[in-house]
Amino acid sequence: MNDIALNIEHLKSSIPEGVTLVAVSKTKAVEDIMEAYRVGHRIFGENRVQEIIEKYPLLPDDLRIHMIGHLQTNKVKYIIDRVKMIEGVDSARLLGIINREAEKRDLVMDVLLQFHIAEEETKYGFALEEVQEIQENGILDEYQNICIRGVMGMATFTDDLDQVRKEFKALKRYFDFLRNKYYSDIDTFNQVSMGMSGDFRIAIEEGSTMIRVGSAIFGPRIKH
Ligand SMILES: *Cc1c(COP(=O)(O)O)cnc(C)c1O
Repeated sequence: MNDIALNIEHLKSSIPEGVTLVAVSKTKAVEDIMEAYRVGHRIFGENRVQEIIEKYPLLPDDLRIHMIGHLQTNKVKYIIDRVKMIEGVDSARLLGIINREAEKRDLVMDVLLQFHIAEEETKYGFALEEVQEIQENGILDEYQNICIRGVMGMATFTDDLDQVRKEFKALKRYFDFLRNKYYSDIDTFNQVSMGMSGDFRIAIEEGSTMIRVGSAIFGPRIKH
């Protein structure tokens, strides 16, 4: 087996059952993705629309792609029928556009609400009050073509693991709050996407159900 296959198998055997591994294949070649595919892996993360459009026609149909990057509203239409989940939803407007485009294609898109948990201003995401406002305005009830599956967040890029843990705890608190208040009888609101190559073990300890791991599988990236 090559490194990618070994990394995948090792990771899968070391994470608890019930935690979904999203193999982040951004910037990586189709051949690399196929190495993971051949050992049975199916869920991949990408962060750029252009890359999804270019790579995925060359790959098997049963690959499930998660859009994990910031998504511009005018690009939703290009990926709406190619991705399984849009993880980084960070505005009410984007929710509306995803719903509209999904409706046109007669599908229901799984989405995660991205929260801003890091210290960096450059990272995207809602504040809790913004999501409460969306919930309480009732617009989500009108959106029949999106399914809110849970929350997503990215911790600060730092060696301070206490800081990272604190941020993951915050995301889990937001999830619990929303579930108790708005989703208590909706079983599909059940995902907490947090944890990357450097911090997924901490994320799992703090209640992650979905980790997004790139470099620990595919090796370091040259760009973004
Ligand atoms: C690139 C990326 C990852 C994976 O990062 P690694 O450190 O390579 O594991 C996870 N989540 C998001 C949103 C990313 O952009």
